[in-house]
Amino acid sequence: MFKLAVLPGDGVGPEIMAEALKVLMSLGKKYHLQFEISEALIGGCAYDETGTPLPSSTLDLCLESDAVLLGAVGGPKWDKLPVHLRPEAGALLPLRKELQVYANLRPAQVFTSLAGASTLKREVVEGLDIMVVRELTGGLYFGSKQREDLPGGGRRVVETLEYTTEEVERVVRIGFDMARRRGKQLTSVDKANVLESSRFWREIVESLANEYPDVELKHMLVDNCAMQLVRNPKQFDVLVTENMFGDILSDQAAQLTGSIGMLPSASLGGKTGLYEPIHGSAPDIAGQGKANPIATILSVSMMLRYGFGEDNAADALEKAVTRALDSGYRTADIMEDGKVQLNTSQMGDLIVENLGVSTGGS
Ligand code: NAD
Repeated sequence: MFKLAVLPGDGVGPEIMAEALKVLMSLGKKYHLQFEISEALIGGCAYDETGTPLPSSTLDLCLESDAVLLGAVGGPKWDKLPVHLRPEAGALLPLRKELQVYANLRPAQVFTSLAGASTLKREVVEGLDIMVVRELTGGLYFGSKQREDLPGGGRRVVETLEYTTEEVERVVRIGFDMARRRGKQLTSVDKANVLESSRFWREIVESLANEYPDVELKHMLVDNCAMQLVRNPKQFDVLVTENMFGDILSDQAAQLTGSIGMLPSASLGGKTGLYEPIHGSAPDIAGQGKANPIATILSVSMMLRYGFGEDNAADALEKAVTRALDSGYRTADIMEDGKVQLNTSQMGDLIVENLGVSTGGS
């Protein structure tokens, strides 16, 4: 029995979550997996109901669950609240911190039938399958910050970048482990020609490499990596890097695939993993049945694989998504000439159909 906290959130969150749960229940039947599912409020809807975007009941539920599946939070209605009450700053960041998820995994995978949707040429991206592992709880984003007035006029700003051996080691190990279960190639990205923190990072990566003789390790400078990602992205298997470089490179890698509605993520490290699509609450299309549920459905696949070790169920789910797309059906965001457009719930049904289990029944 897997204990699952489900947080649909705001905007399209409830619509895409309904489809993810539909798929999860069907997989459960097929693979004899049992889930104890509890839903809770997060984000703007939680603020409206309770006065805080992350109620303590939601946090407690997450902390005692085996996994957290999140839709998305935020929207214009809550943009003017004080920062600590806004859905993202007041709920998502503290949730990640409380769950102690220090490694963010973002796959950028191009489904063959969608290769035409990328802004890059089909031959550059067709078959692309990269995993970016980003350090999530340290580095420049979390270091001390200050501004001061200078005596002669003008101001000065200081941001601090800090990492400990342990912080680097644990995320780099996730990078090596991920490479070991995929294509056995790890690229560690840094700026070791300039930054001391990068030289520190590189030494630690080197010191761990002999524990993973089956993984081919490369170091790459971040500026070169940004260039290689658009020049020849298929050279990469797993990338591992510190927080800020990872923030930028994971968005760049995501964009190679063409649609934000297709991209899942997992944040790992603590006892409970957090699984969510990379997109936001898409208020412009909320309530219209236009949202693509596939990013959330593929987040379920990451949960099954990395959270529960259920690789067979995850493989089956990914194949069902591929089959649904190959058969010519699309949601509005990935629509092309000659294809058939489906709404959110129809796409969920089609993926369930392609799992080979029925949507009906209990
Ligand atoms: P967004 O990701 O919500 O939307 C960007 C564009 O992508 C929009 O045109 C939207 O319609 C489209 N889009 C997003 N998801 C889609 C899907 N599943 N199917 C089809 N199209 C999709 O980003 P935004 O508009 O900058 O932000 C909207 C709100 O979401 C803001 O309040 C922001 O703070 C919040 N946000 C939340 C998260 C999160 O919950 N993790 C992440 C980013 C933004």
